Amino acid sequence: MRLTVLGCAGSFPGPEAPCSAYLIEADGFRLLMDFGPGSMSTLQRYGGLYSVDAILLSHLHCDHMLDACSYIVARRYAPAGPFPPLPVYAPVAAPDRIAAAYGGENEPMSIGDVYTFYALQPGSFPIGPFQITVDRVNHPIETYGVRIEHEGKVLTYSADTGPCEALIRLAQGADAFLCEASYLDGVDNPPDLHLTGREAAEHATKAGVGRLLLTHLVPAWCSEALTLEAATSAFSGPIDVVRPGARYDI
Ligand SMILES: [Zn+2]
Ligand SMILES: [Zn+2]
Repeated sequence: MRLTVLGCAGSFPGPEAPCSAYLIEADGFRLLMDFGPGSMSTLQRYGGLYSVDAILLSHLHCDHMLDACSYIVARRYAPAGPFPPLPVYAPVAAPDRIAAAYGGENEPMSIGDVYTFYALQPGSFPIGPFQITVDRVNHPIETYGVRIEHEGKVLTYSADTGPCEALIRLAQGADAFLCEASYLDGVDNPPDLHLTGREAAEHATKAGVGRLLLTHLVPAWCSEALTLEAATSAFSGPIDVVRPGARYDI
């Protein structure tokens, strides 16, 4: 399978990066994982406006889902006629949240013509050619870490999370571990919200992953160099800080 990073800025867009969005492709099928603000732009650059076969939203914080609102316009009002409903796997509140963020007074609140929603709960299920396993991770709202398997290869995505055992289970033996590293090490961070570079690397080491792909750094507040340095001290395999347009064959 191939991972293309469409957006990776944590919490709000950065000068060079939209918020979280990742395109995962195999056998001609394209799964869009998270759809943060600005990523509809890079979707058009690195994939194609209508090149999505399914969407998975890890959680409903705005930096992971707001372009699912913009995308309603693109599909509903396409010049050649509306596109058929797209499957969206997301927390149970997604239909109401996306509809509320999209529309307003005097507009239809139903977005069932654009999306068919499937409520996430911990467990395994197929999406296209992928076998997906999700579990709740350590974040203040309903949030799912994601394990994606295809032909013996594994990509695990942390979503947003503080330290947790569920993430180690999801990442066990993964070929690539796309893990958030929002916080700087060595400062007093709030608990149960996000990981530091060192904590991401410690989870990677415990899970025995092949490579660590750090994401969700907050450009305005982070130091990429310090995060990498902290991660390198706790994981001996290859580590990248991902960027929009980066592609990884897994
Ligand atoms: Zn986030
Ligand atoms: Zn979040």
